[in-house]
Amino acid sequence: MKEDYYDILGIAKGASAAEIKKAYRKKAVQYHPDKNPGDAKAEEMFKKAAEAYEVLSDDNKKARYDQYGHAAFDGSGGFGGGGGGMNMDDIFNQFGDIFGGFGGGGGFSGFGGGGGGQRRVKGSSLKIRVALTLEEVANGVEKKIKVKRKVQASGVTYKTCGTCGGRGQVTKITNTILGRMQTAATCSSCGGSGQILDHKPGDADAQGMIVKEETVAVKIPGGVEDGMQLKVSGKGNDAPGNGVPGDLIVAIETLEHETLKREGDNLHYDLYVSISEAVLGTSKEIDAVTGKVRIKLEPGIQSGKILRLRGKGISSLNGYGAGDLLVHVNVWTPKTLSKEQKEFFEKMQNNENFIPNPEKSDKSFFEKVKDMFS
Ligand SMILES: [Zn+2]
Repeated sequence: MKEDYYDILGIAKGASAAEIKKAYRKKAVQYHPDKNPGDAKAEEMFKKAAEAYEVLSDDNKKARYDQYGHAAFDGSGGFGGGGGGMNMDDIFNQFGDIFGGFGGGGGFSGFGGGGGGQRRVKGSSLKIRVALTLEEVANGVEKKIKVKRKVQASGVTYKTCGTCGGRGQVTKITNTILGRMQTAATCSSCGGSGQILDHKPGDADAQGMIVKEETVAVKIPGGVEDGMQLKVSGKGNDAPGNGVPGDLIVAIETLEHETLKREGDNLHYDLYVSISEAVLGTSKEIDAVTGKVRIKLEPGIQSGKILRLRGKGISSLNGYGAGDLLVHVNVWTPKTLSKEQKEFFEKMQNNENFIPNPEKSDKSFFEKVKDMFS
């Protein structure tokens, strides 16, 4: 069993964003590698705390975690955070800001993550919108997405930054009420990479980068919702020099379906049948998200009846099962009648079989609605 993210940070479910940040900061300081050199257990705890914070500090991921637990991130691929574990570089790149200000005061000397004191700068993220049909949402899909990424131009060379001497950070001394405080700040000359451009080809920009179109295959799990964002690590812009590439953020947009309406993992379909079909019984073909489905209507079926086709809805985001397809039967009453048809219905009007006589087992519309939402 994977440990609960709230337990790792030592907070209760429902903790505020400020409490989550505070708890993570505390754990990060406690288990920081600078403070626990060579302590594998501390490093493990440091990584666990970062993973928990990565999920709980992101409203979107937190909501999914709160609903599905670790299953929200398992197996589906594509989603950042959880499962895969984070390496030290990721942690420092993503949460660098949370360590800011520890400088001299906290007893830390920059955050190299064991790599010689230099921070690896992360490239900027790219964001792209992807529109999905209901079928794609229901079953999951792999999309080939064209992105224009900044990549390092060939022939570019870098040299050590003179301002920070390649450390990527400069030390600031501030006089405070407690005495002289040392704080580390990102070097503004090199942006923290410790390197500056030495030589670049003519078509590269000021950082030695060119824009290149690339096709990225993004696996989108079934059950995603409009507005969700997937992170594809390393497919954003490259960072100059020895930096690590940023992420590609895929924003999901869902398209409406002509006949199927989504409600959570369930789908609703309005089926219209004629009076004679309802009386005599019939079979109908429906375009479900899983393909065509044929359903049988028994003779004497009532308008308002809901037929439930199990598992023909939207795949669950947690990877287990799928919702149902609910077919709502509507008997279509003709609005105009020929003389003969009118005579037929007038003749039937007082016929015993045409007088409504619901059985106890035929639930009313309101009872059915109540059942569906309970
Ligand atoms: Zn510098």
